[in-house]
Amino acid sequence: MRAESLLSVRLRRPLGHNPAMSRAPKTDDDTPAEPACAPAVKGQSIEAIAQGIAIAILEKRLPPGTWLREEALGRVYGVSRTKVRAALLMLSKDRLIEMIPDKGAFVSKPTVQEAREVFAVRRILEAEVVRLFIAKAGPADYAALEQHIAMEHQAARRSTGMREELLGDFHVALAKATGNATLTELVHELVARSALIAMLYQSSNDPHCSTDEHADFLRLCRQGDAPAAVASMTGHLERIEASLQLDTGPPGRPMDLVKALLA
Ligand SMILES: [Zn+2]
Repeated sequence: MRAESLLSVRLRRPLGHNPAMSRAPKTDDDTPAEPACAPAVKGQSIEAIAQGIAIAILEKRLPPGTWLREEALGRVYGVSRTKVRAALLMLSKDRLIEMIPDKGAFVSKPTVQEAREVFAVRRILEAEVVRLFIAKAGPADYAALEQHIAMEHQAARRSTGMREELLGDFHVALAKATGNATLTELVHELVARSALIAMLYQSSNDPHCSTDEHADFLRLCRQGDAPAAVASMTGHLERIEASLQLDTGPPGRPMDLVKALLA
């Protein structure tokens, strides 16, 4: 039986789930006592392992290029290497990790060209998401998205690691409200890849989305002004891409952090 895509696993996660709950405790020098993707419970399912690793990647605890050692992950999750491999295979389908024959699994490291392609496709797809959303959204959809923005604000005030993920989830929640599951899965994959791209090519630690821009955008949707809302979303995505250092390449980020943690 084919393993279920991580996207559908993640999409079932309710808004407001706190991925920080599954984090390993940190020591004084900010080095996790266990590998950064350590779960609270041993012997988890393949889907739960894949989700734990995905959240660690999206929260920047496992940087691009990190070697994901099967034995170490097996120890952390208290499962066999076969289960770990199945979880890694699931993540590779969503392009969050790359399986290299004879070398192993690594957190994906998108190239500059891939980064530009991802944002070009997001502008096209998400413009359509906006049109469909405005045509279909009811009061409950607006209320859910406004609640989501409130959570982004809360996470920003507390400087929690989940803010980045919440900001990306806004785009996924918007797509989900259109009722088109295929469109939602595509947006989800592109948002996850954008988070990896931001990790590699962002010059600062600022989040790659802006909560204020999300709020302005939603206001235009409520007014039913589709052209202005599309322009707002397209501009938002252009500003995110412009904030990346795609001309000079990735700044030299340490890529061996978790390799050391997993050793
Ligand atoms: Zn955004």
